[in-house]
Amino acid sequence: MASPETPRTAARKTAAARTTSAKTAAARTAAAEKSAAEKSAGAAASKATAKKPPAKKKAAASGTAVRARAAQAARPESRLAMVRRARRINRELADVYPYAHPELDFRNPFELLVATVLSAQTTDLRVNQTTPALFARYPTPEDMAAAVPEELEELIRPTGFFRAKAKSVIGLSKALRDDFGGEVPGRLEDLVTLPGVGRKTAFVVLGNAFGVPGITVDTHFMRLARRWKWTEQEDPVKIEAEIAEIFPKSDWTMLSHRVIFHGRRICHARKPACGACPITHLCPSYGEGETDPEKARKLLKYEMGGFPGQRLSPPPDYPGKPAAPLGAG
Ligand code: SF4
Repeated sequence: MASPETPRTAARKTAAARTTSAKTAAARTAAAEKSAAEKSAGAAASKATAKKPPAKKKAAASGTAVRARAAQAARPESRLAMVRRARRINRELADVYPYAHPELDFRNPFELLVATVLSAQTTDLRVNQTTPALFARYPTPEDMAAAVPEELEELIRPTGFFRAKAKSVIGLSKALRDDFGGEVPGRLEDLVTLPGVGRKTAFVVLGNAFGVPGITVDTHFMRLARRWKWTEQEDPVKIEAEIAEIFPKSDWTMLSHRVIFHGRRICHARKPACGACPITHLCPSYGEGETDPEKARKLLKYEMGGFPGQRLSPPPDYPGKPAAPLGAG
């Protein structure tokens, strides 16, 4: 029979048990803390690894991408694949430039027609800076038809080739007054009969003042359509015909604005900013320009580069700054 436990023995036992349990808890806490510290160190290390891949791996990855691109470029592309790629470029440009618009300021078809004629061989910005005074002096085709050539020449001098342009705008104003009741006609076949008005000008007017779908094949459109292998033609009329086969008619006007926006802001003639281009994955000419992202960003223009746009009165959804009037700043 066991001898009964004295109160002192019981107290000693309880204290010893408490100490053991406290030690175990401390050990558990230390182990948990150690494991958490190890986990967090591991996570930080793997984060750092993810952020900064070893130089060799990075070079290999970029080499693989370049080889994949080169292999893709070397493979002949079927017509169907090209059409799908072209339409995808249009959709992606719509996301990049949801605010794409004509970059000439105008309030009616007559102003757009005159501004488009004046835009030959100069920037839309220079035209926009010139037309406020011109339209204040000659607001209608009748007024412009009766202009003294030398006075009108002085007003449009900043746009260059001002004598030939004055002849065209006075001539087209006379034709509007005499043959079209003082109104700009809304048909291609009529527009191209006006002095100084070719298909490109006619499509700009039809698309933007009359809502008639049209493809504007200007210097930017030609360059980009060829870079994207949509066409190999060099003649604007042939380019227009081939592009018309790729896109539905309802896309033509906005497609033209988006392509021209991209050509003016990112895919420049001499130094395309490939490293800052949002459609590199669809472009067979990637690498024709600057591929370093940092250097490419410095090449961006207008709202993409944080600069003013070309219009003095841009549409309300334009995210950039309006252009300054002539001589301002
Ligand atoms: S990747 Fe380069 S060449 Fe191609 S669209 Fe972009 S900027 Fe132009």
